[in-house]
Amino acid sequence: MGERIGARRVAIVGAGPAGLMVAEVLARAMQHEPLAVDVYDAMPSAGRKFLLAGIGGLNLTHSEPFDDFVRRFGPRQRALSDWLGHFGPDEVQLWASDLGVETFVGSSGRIFPRDMKAAPLLRAWLARLRAAGVRFHHRHRWLGWPDAQPVEGAAPGDSGRPLRFATPEGEREIQADVVVLALGGGSWARLGSDGAWVDILRRRQVDVAPLAPANCGFDVQTRTPEGTARVGWSDHLRQRFAGHPLKAVALRVDGLRQPRFERRGEFVITQSGIEGSLVYAASSWLRDDIEKHGLASLTLDLLPDHSPERIMTELRHPRGARSFSSHLKTRLGLHGAKAALLYEMLSREQLADPVWLGAAIKALPLNLVAPRPLDEAISTAGGVRLEAMTPGLMLKRAPGVFCAGEMLDWEAPTGGYLLTACLSSGRVVGGSVLDWLHGQPARQD
Ligand SMILES: Cc1cc2nc3c(=O)[nH]c(=O)nc-3n(C[C@H](O)[C@H](O)[C@H](O)COP(=O)(O)OP(=O)(O)OC[C@H]3O[C@@H](n4cnc5c(N)ncnc54)[C@H](O)[C@@H]3O)c2cc1C
Repeated sequence: MGERIGARRVAIVGAGPAGLMVAEVLARAMQHEPLAVDVYDAMPSAGRKFLLAGIGGLNLTHSEPFDDFVRRFGPRQRALSDWLGHFGPDEVQLWASDLGVETFVGSSGRIFPRDMKAAPLLRAWLARLRAAGVRFHHRHRWLGWPDAQPVEGAAPGDSGRPLRFATPEGEREIQADVVVLALGGGSWARLGSDGAWVDILRRRQVDVAPLAPANCGFDVQTRTPEGTARVGWSDHLRQRFAGHPLKAVALRVDGLRQPRFERRGEFVITQSGIEGSLVYAASSWLRDDIEKHGLASLTLDLLPDHSPERIMTELRHPRGARSFSSHLKTRLGLHGAKAALLYEMLSREQLADPVWLGAAIKALPLNLVAPRPLDEAISTAGGVRLEAMTPGLMLKRAPGVFCAGEMLDWEAPTGGYLLTACLSSGRVVGGSVLDWLHGQPARQD
């Protein structure tokens, strides 16, 4: 499709859900105004992390009431409420349906495509964008702007500087009237989002909060039989139980007067600690505690459906010739990873004392010393501070440059909140780009 004379050029860097949603808004406008929309991405194809999310069933959004949904964004809920008011969970479902993908509400209230796959949705989306005239340029890694002084009277994107890209044919410079950065966070770098943009934007004096892992696993601190603190599990627990889930447990992170986090769910023992949905849900508190105090503590209830009294009765029940572990299994259903964790954390004397053991089953303390590295996390906290942007998500320091998606400074648990917020911010940016262009003098080609 040829470019219309006098068309304004928008360069979108990053072909994840946020960048593609910006392209979608602009693709609609292209039908009645002269616009050229180009999407650049470092990877050989679009939406790699979106496709990875499909492996877990692609949790697109959540069905809980809007106010509850917005509260998941913690300190950023005010800004998010504005974005989600334009394009929230209902709109995400309509959008998917419009692309031929019907959704359903799972038992936990989470919303998924019926086939629980990302590929058909992404395929239909890209086809629609291409048909509308959006052009894609893969294997284009954005390197920033040249360091030269701004060009007098030039187009607005970072004061008229061209964008520099590394491509298989060598470095290319691209001029655009508006630039949209939708570069993702810093996890799973092999899928394209490596956080290299942080330094580029900081060099332009853009305020970027340090990137940190969100929805991540942690390394534990345990003690050797001699009482020395160590990072990770004993060889026995690691070799026998790494990869094993602990199901139907409750996890609590205490606060001064009341728990800051308390929920039931499941998690997994890893080589050096813990990960999984219940841990991810608590991860922002645990990560922040480690950052402040060097250590985070959580408490596990291994049998949340059993009262302490019932546990005591079962533990005191005569065990006859049965071994201790088979007693725990038959009387309380404690076996596998749950029982192994008790053996790991308690001394021989504590295990033999029903009062100690009963208390530990209901409230087993676990210390965490470090979040797992950012690259392993589901998502990224930190990013371009919203205070560095206009409400329309344009950088105050670089008029004509907009940012969308996970590279902005907000975080949320898993549950469809991440994708919804990325799509929603893309919607906001698309509208703001059009408003910005409408306020600029027409191009003279
Ligand atoms: C294992 C896993 C499962 C997940 N499951 C879910 C889920 O079920 N539900 C949910 O809501 N969220 C889920 N997420 C999170 C969700 O996928 C992300 O929040 C979302 O993809 C972020 O969208 P984005 O467009 O901001 O960034 P990204 O999807 O990361 O896209 C950014 C794009 O920018 C490109 N890019 C980066 N740097 C450059 C550069 N310098 N030059 C050119 N291109 C560049 C990248 O190649 C990439 O294509 C999951 C994440 C992971 C890791």
